[in-house]
Amino acid sequence: MKNKKIIAIVLAAVLVISVGVLAACTKNGGTDEPSTEPVSNTEVKTLTMATNASFPPYEFYEGEKIVGIDAEIAGLIAEKLGMELVIEDVEFKTIIPGVQSGKYDMGMAGMTVTDERLESVNFSDTYAKGVQVVIVKEGGDIKSLDDLEGKMIGVQEATTGDIYASDEFGDDHVTKYANGALAVQALNAGKVDCVIIDNEPAKNYVEANEGLEILDTEYTVEDYAICFAKENTELQEAVNGALKELIADGSVQKIIDKYIPAE
Ligand code: GLN
Repeated sequence: MKNKKIIAIVLAAVLVISVGVLAACTKNGGTDEPSTEPVSNTEVKTLTMATNASFPPYEFYEGEKIVGIDAEIAGLIAEKLGMELVIEDVEFKTIIPGVQSGKYDMGMAGMTVTDERLESVNFSDTYAKGVQVVIVKEGGDIKSLDDLEGKMIGVQEATTGDIYASDEFGDDHVTKYANGALAVQALNAGKVDCVIIDNEPAKNYVEANEGLEILDTEYTVEDYAICFAKENTELQEAVNGALKELIADGSVQKIIDKYIPAE
């Protein structure tokens, strides 16, 4: 009698535990309940884009969000490819190494196609033009490109502005900053005499900072494109396909016009 009672209690306990374990299993692994886990990579692939979000109007922060021409074009590309876009804000100089190592799927940062970069990465078709310009203090003694000799030039490290300035004037005459905002801050503070940077960010910086102007003479004209690891031709081709459609149907131009209103 006593034994039977004990067995009944043990059985009941086993039953309670089993039901509990089963319930827990169903909750985590079952298909009935919607999962609270993020959608796994096998369902929706992420498209990780590395950029430097201090480069308006191509990429900049609006509150917590990175917006701009590149961010919006990348968003439409990801949509076409059925992928989820993830934007990583990193220093410009780390974009190409990060893409090469596979840390990021692609780099999109108002990035100029150059022969030297083509040795490390592949580029998509180009989607925009960039022009290198010189920002100076209004009324200062730099009136033209000829006056740059002997001056201290601020640049964003590893950008084409940096490469041209360092080649032409020598490293001693170039101060490298992690991004455009810091270079312009240095110009405001009198630590450098000018900043060589792409024209659209330049216009944004001049608008936002009293007492600066852009020299009339353009330094160089370049093409912007998205970079990929050499071996990732599959993604490069997919992105090019999407980009072609977005250029053909006017979506790219619409985004550019939204951020760069006609003067
Ligand atoms: N177009 C320039 C380059 O590719 C600058 C890009 C940037 O600063 N985001 O080097």
